[in-house]
Amino acid sequence: MSCEIKNKERVGVINPIFTCQPAGAQCASIGIKDCIGLVHGGQGCVMFVRLILSQHFKESFELASSSLHEDAAVFGALKRVEDGVDVMLMRYPNLKVIPIITTCSTEIIGDDVDGVVLKLNDGLLKQKYPDREVYLIPIHTPSFVGSIISGYDIAVKDFVSYFAKKEEQKNGKINLITGWVNPGDVTELKSLLKEMDIDATVLFEIESFDSPLMPSGNHISHGETTVEDLKSTANAIGTIALNKYEGGQAAEYLEKEFDIPAVIGPTPIGIRNTDTFLQNLKKMTGKPIPESLVVKRGIALDAITDVTHMFLAGKKVAIYGNPDMVIGLAEFCLDMEMEPVLLLLGDDNTRYVHDPRLMAMKEKVNFDMEVVTNADLWELEDRIKNKGLELDLIMGHSKGRFISIEYNIPMVRVGFPVYDRAGKYRHPILGYDGAIWLAEEIANTMFADMEYKHNKEWVLNVW
Ligand code: SF4
Repeated sequence: MSCEIKNKERVGVINPIFTCQPAGAQCASIGIKDCIGLVHGGQGCVMFVRLILSQHFKESFELASSSLHEDAAVFGALKRVEDGVDVMLMRYPNLKVIPIITTCSTEIIGDDVDGVVLKLNDGLLKQKYPDREVYLIPIHTPSFVGSIISGYDIAVKDFVSYFAKKEEQKNGKINLITGWVNPGDVTELKSLLKEMDIDATVLFEIESFDSPLMPSGNHISHGETTVEDLKSTANAIGTIALNKYEGGQAAEYLEKEFDIPAVIGPTPIGIRNTDTFLQNLKKMTGKPIPESLVVKRGIALDAITDVTHMFLAGKKVAIYGNPDMVIGLAEFCLDMEMEPVLLLLGDDNTRYVHDPRLMAMKEKVNFDMEVVTNADLWELEDRIKNKGLELDLIMGHSKGRFISIEYNIPMVRVGFPVYDRAGKYRHPILGYDGAIWLAEEIANTMFADMEYKHNKEWVLNVW
């Protein structure tokens, strides 16, 4: 019995799990109010990202492209950034924040985005928009390294380090960097904070991505983190970053530059990680954990107990997607007596192999388990098709749906993007409510499979 953590051995990628770095930066930018990212690259670097965001959230988002073509790729394309910023400021009177997000092509041709920002600050903004509050922020996300995950992490750190400004007084709040989550997760996190009477600046706040359809016909979604929120991060009593790889850098930056104590992780998936999250909140703020949360925890435990031993114990599961989520889900599966036999992390971040959560699993698991970094979906399919891997469940985003369909393995949709099931973004996987939803979603998926395959479906009559 062993847990092996290894890099994908094959060269090349078949059916990638992640998209590229600029997509992560774009996702962080839409969490900021009065912000539109200007992606410096080909039009597709925005078009497909907007499409995937819209497919997942079923909403529309605003992102801009410098839309360079062949001539720009040869002679440089900074003029298109200058024109792009001007057009955006003319078109959007309330626009304040324009991150200029680089891509593979513009990093390769060596466009000096930092230089053009200085030029625009001294020229266009002073001359044409002297009364406007405008912030131009270069964000370097070449896509020949990293992934959507590191792109998000870089952008969060760049936004925070650009704006954070020390004041005399602490603001009495904590910074909560949620990482890459869904609106339902933010609702659950806010409810836990409210129960503990904790005032928090929730950064890159996307609860409003579950947007109402209003009589006024508002049809664009945007995040709720303001410039003031970002500035005041330097005056918080502490920072909690829920995910190590999506926001961890920003928490470390605030600690180093402004002495704001940082707690990074664990991602509060499942009971034990949510318990740790609440304990971290208690230590940071001095606020007690109220009885109401003990009751909420008890309800979650009760719901999980109802399905765990009878239906989930010993079930083999493969999980892929964002690293913090995959690790959190694997920990929760272990707590529910399941066997997460295969974890796929979709980029080559060398820190994964030293992640203490994976190290702890390596020590403890009593079945054969593999963790593959820089993985793609072929790593999953190949094991099922050619290497005899038998699975009871797949957990991951919608890009793996064809493997589930082809090999008749039930699948729980979780992560980003999920576009082939309705409303998944509304349900949390974080906190006690998230633990209930996950346990019941897993159980119900298995029940449907038992019925479909006539596999002991009679048990459901007597449960
Ligand atoms: S890989 Fe490069 S060209 Fe393709 S979408 Fe990403 S940044 Fe754009």
